[in-house]
Amino acid sequence: MKKSHVRVRFAPSPTGFMHLGNVRVAIINYLFARQNEGNFIVRVEDTDPQRNVDPEAKNILYNLDWLKLDYDEGPEKNGHYAPYFQSQRMATYRAALSTLQQKQLVYPCFCSSETLEAKRQRQLAMKQPPRYDRACMKLNPDEVKQKFAEDAPYIWRFKLDHDKTVTFYDLAHKTKHFELKHFSDVPITRQDGSFTFLFANFLDDVAMKITHVFRGEDHLTNTAAQVALYEAFDEEVPVFYHLPILCNLDGKKLSKRDFGFSLNDLKAEGYLPEALINYLGIIGHSVKNEIMTLEELTASYAFDHLSTTGQIKYDVEKLRWLNHQWIMNYDLDTLTELCRPFIEAENSILGQLPTEKLKLLIAPLQSELVTLKQSAQALSFVTDAFTIDPIMLDMHQFSTYKSSLKELAPQLIAAQPSEAFTLLKELCKSKNYPMKHVLTLIRIGLTGKAQGLGIKEIFSMLSHEEIQKRIAKLLA
Ligand code: GLU
Repeated sequence: MKKSHVRVRFAPSPTGFMHLGNVRVAIINYLFARQNEGNFIVRVEDTDPQRNVDPEAKNILYNLDWLKLDYDEGPEKNGHYAPYFQSQRMATYRAALSTLQQKQLVYPCFCSSETLEAKRQRQLAMKQPPRYDRACMKLNPDEVKQKFAEDAPYIWRFKLDHDKTVTFYDLAHKTKHFELKHFSDVPITRQDGSFTFLFANFLDDVAMKITHVFRGEDHLTNTAAQVALYEAFDEEVPVFYHLPILCNLDGKKLSKRDFGFSLNDLKAEGYLPEALINYLGIIGHSVKNEIMTLEELTASYAFDHLSTTGQIKYDVEKLRWLNHQWIMNYDLDTLTELCRPFIEAENSILGQLPTEKLKLLIAPLQSELVTLKQSAQALSFVTDAFTIDPIMLDMHQFSTYKSSLKELAPQLIAAQPSEAFTLLKELCKSKNYPMKHVLTLIRIGLTGKAQGLGIKEIFSMLSHEEIQKRIAKLLA
């Protein structure tokens, strides 16, 4: 247990993968817990069998570990308030349902989803706010008994007091009021008998003594309904922070269609955990220094100046820039080992190289790399055969310089990497050739590409034999 009473939780549903919105919520929870020397709890919200794609939440836990967001209580760690999987907490929910039944604050609702949808459409057509019309609340005890006897499918609904206004405090939005007359009575079970997110989430926050609830702004109206539940159970309402939603640059909620939505995809492209933490920790804030570690974010995150804008724009270019900065930060040994799996996946020869050799190939790339995966693409020329495009050669007036290059070839082939560039420079100077064309022609001959690494770097990455073969082919 930590010294302060602060207890926050990250409560993902194991829907198969983490997206940037979840990751951001996890980070903010983490930062608040650490800043306040409180407890950071992970609770897996797996009550909906249909959304339970990753039953043990292995992917989420693995990702939290990869991001180095260590938690104090949760799956695989346990803690005083275990279990931390909602699927193992059914007894608590059943007991709470029976309390509400005794207080007559719930009623069974037999309406099918088709009926509910038809009613909703009718209300919308009549320009009324869509709200459950309480048809089932009006059933008399005999009618209810009859329906139970027929085994009609039903859910339990929590009766809201339509005369009441609920109030809660949000760190960004300050005091919020919601009139319950605008809300439908809250479904707390599903037709298969499982408990809904709204109910289980509230009960666990109470049971786990959560003091602050940080989650996406899309939960604001859920919060109003949950506050009614807190009041029904006479429990203290936590402080909330509803985080602005992440949007793409067009202002639409970030979705599967946007690049980098899924953390697994970003990982597969070679984005670094430090860069993602850094990016998600600074967006929506104005910060003096944009490059920050998790520790620096913990020390400086301004929870008393939170943004109330409804959305925050996700800018991949900024993330790419930060990723590059973090790549530049690494020492060569670490960077080499981080690149290795990406290289292995695309190039079995280079992937097997001993560290010392692979380092020589990675070193010239470091200042260029935006993602780790790019290392594999950038190195493909070292081992893979390529054809030289004659149009590209023409564009750089190959025929004008070819005979001079032929004369220089024996020296060039024997040269050390640092000398190769000097030799070419001297040739250009003595013949008054533009360096740009001559260097590009050599690059095309050695890599197949007109742009990319410098001549010195290319020479350092290829063996003498390979250079000889390629130059001979170019000048043939
Ligand atoms: N399981 C919910 C979600 O993933 C949790 C929301 C909350 O943090 O309360 O959206």
